[in-house]
Formats: sequence, structure tokens, C-alpha cells
Amino acid sequence: MELMLKKFFHQTSAAINAVFSFAKNIDYKTLSQYILEINQMQDLDSILHEASKCLKEMLDYRLFAFAVQDGDSLDVWIDPTLYKKTIGNIIQKDFGYNGELNIRHMNDGEEDVRNPDTLPSGDLMSYVLMEGKYMVRFYILTGRRMLQYHCEIMNIIVKTLGIAVSNFMNLKNLENVAAFDPLTNCYNRREFSRLIEHNIANAQRHGKDLSIIMFDMDHFKKINDTYGHQAGDIVLKKVCHVICSGIRKGDYLSRFGGEEFVLVLPDTKMTRAMELAERLRKTIENHPIKISEERDIKVTASFGVASLRIDSGKDILLNEVDAMLYKAKTSGRNTVMPRLKLCDFHAQPSEEICLVTAS
Ligand code: GH3
Ligand code: MG
Ligand code: MG
Repeated sequence: MELMLKKFFHQTSAAINAVFSFAKNIDYKTLSQYILEINQMQDLDSILHEASKCLKEMLDYRLFAFAVQDGDSLDVWIDPTLYKKTIGNIIQKDFGYNGELNIRHMNDGEEDVRNPDTLPSGDLMSYVLMEGKYMVRFYILTGRRMLQYHCEIMNIIVKTLGIAVSNFMNLKNLENVAAFDPLTNCYNRREFSRLIEHNIANAQRHGKDLSIIMFDMDHFKKINDTYGHQAGDIVLKKVCHVICSGIRKGDYLSRFGGEEFVLVLPDTKMTRAMELAERLRKTIENHPIKISEERDIKVTASFGVASLRIDSGKDILLNEVDAMLYKAKTSGRNTVMPRLKLCDFHAQPSEEICLVTAS
């Protein structure tokens, strides 16, 4: 009897081993396909989409979450979104972050609208993929009992994901260094030249409007001399922040040099651009900037505005806007040129552009 039981036990474990080793073969084959795919992906969304597909198939996860902190923003990808509140809190705690999370839904962006829930039971595993300039973490709650080879699969996927994400981030970092001004975080002059050529070609091809606003801080040298260069840096940063908060999606700000900036407004007529310039001028004037705990200072800027004409290109446009900025400076600063004023249909055209109202 004992011999028979032993034989039965031996045969059963051999069968189970055979099943597992068969499963193991299938999984590793599928896994290598996924790894190949992940390594070929060029953008973060595709990398994460592929990794989540792979993990779903291999480990049948109940929750997949991925978080990237880049400067002040924390981007999070979640599948399913059902647990976004709970996992969101965990992520905020792990990153020591109090701001709002920028949550994206994976898998075709479908949001799970069932009632929010606490996480299902099981171990939530968390992996640190990158630390330093970018902080990257990945979370997973699997739906099956983790056997030895599941853990091996997990390790391989985590390594692959880590390499793909760090390659992507490093490339993004190089692109950022080449395109953005490190102090103000707006485009640098080189990127501006590249982008505006593209905007001008597009506006001319489709007969669309394009306007630009150039502005320069008033008496900025005095700010540096009085409060120090560091205070000057704070002013530049905050002014850019204020400007960027007051423009549309599609408009963009570039640092043209020193304390001079250009705002590009695709699809925008001259009068609209002048109205915007006036609004931005007032905003800067009316919002003193905190340069230290005990000191807020008032700053102003002068603005020039110009619009693309059918026969003009980048150089003419920049010359025109530069001439208008010069005029704003010589007209006493803290002003917009050309000047916008309301006038009637019969007024003679002058340097001041009339916003004709049909009242
Ligand atoms: P205006 O009203 O005629 O424009 O006078 P201004 O003093 O603003 O112009 P000016 O060209 O005489 O001086 C510009 C100053 O801006 C000098 C330069 O040191 C300072 N500046 C340029 N870039 C930076 C920067 O990144 N940080 C700081 N703090 N200062 C800068
Ligand atoms: Mg200046
Ligand atoms: Mg200047």
C-alpha cells in the first residue's frame, strides 16, 4: 500500500512538473516577444501599454500603476482606474508629493466608472525604476499566486521596463536640454527659430493668421543692481510663469535673450494679439513679485506686437515686432505698441490700431 501511494505521489508530481514546465516554455516564448516589442517602443505611452499587456497576460494583474515625477509634476498611469484614489494616496506618500496627480488611464483611456474601491487583498509590489532627476516607480498587484517562475518573469519584465524607461527619459532629457531655457523653462532661441519657421509655413499654406508679441522687462538692470542677480532670476521665472498661465494651448513662450521674450500666437489676428499683450502687461504690473520672505517688488515690461503678412517671412516679422518693442521703450515703457484704442468707423488710421466696434 505504501509503495502504491509513493508511486502515485511520484507520478502526480511528475505530471504537475510537466504541466509547469510546459507552461514555463509557453510563457518564456511569449515573454521574449513582448520584450522585443517593448525594446522597440519609442514613447512612454507605448512602452507602458506593451508592458501592461505583457503583465496582464503573464501574471493577470489586478492593478498596474506607473508613476513618473519630473520636476513639479507627477504623472501616473493606472489600470484599472477603479482604485485610483487608493493607489493615488500610496503614490503621493511614496513620492512625498502633495500636489495634484496627473492621472492617465491605460488601455485606450477607458475610465472604470464603477464605485471606487479599496485595493483587493494581496501584496502590492512596488519597484523603483529610476531615482535622481526623474523619479520612476512601478506598482503591481497580481491576481495569481506567485510561483518561482512567475517571480522570474516579473524580474525580467521589471528589468526590461527599467531599461526602456530610462532610455526614453535620457533621450527626453537631452531633447529638453537642447530645446528649453533652464532658468525659465520656456523654449530657448534655437527652438523658437525652428518652431516659428514651421508656424509661418503652416499659416501661409493655409491662409491663417499668426501674431507675435515681444516683451522686455523694464529697467531690469536696476532690479539686479538693487536686489541682486538671484532676485532678478526669480523675477524672470515668475514673469514667465504668469505669462504661460495666461495663454492658450498652442501659444508658446520663448526666451529670446536676457530679459527679452517672444510669445508666438498661431491663428491669432493682430487686434486679438494686442488685447492679449495689454492684458499681460497689466497682469505683470499688478502682481508684485515675491523675491524673498520679506520683500515683494513691482516690475513692469514693454510690449511690441506684429502679425504675419502674406509677403513677410520670419525676418520681417521679427524686425517689425522689434521696432514696436523699441517704440514701447521710447514711449515711456510699461506699454504696448502699436497702441490699441477703441475708435469709430470714420477715424483716420494712425499708428494706433483701432479696434472698430459696431456699436
Ligand atoms: P530697459 O528698460 O531699457 O530694457 O532697461 P534694462 O535695464 O532692462 O535693459 P539693459 O539691456 O540695460 O539690461 C538688461 C539686464 O538684464 C542686464 C543683464 O545683466 C540682465 N539679465 C540678462 N539675463 C539675465 C538673467 O538670466 N538673470 C538676471 N538676473 N539678469 C539677467
Ligand atoms: Mg529690459
Ligand atoms: Mg533687453
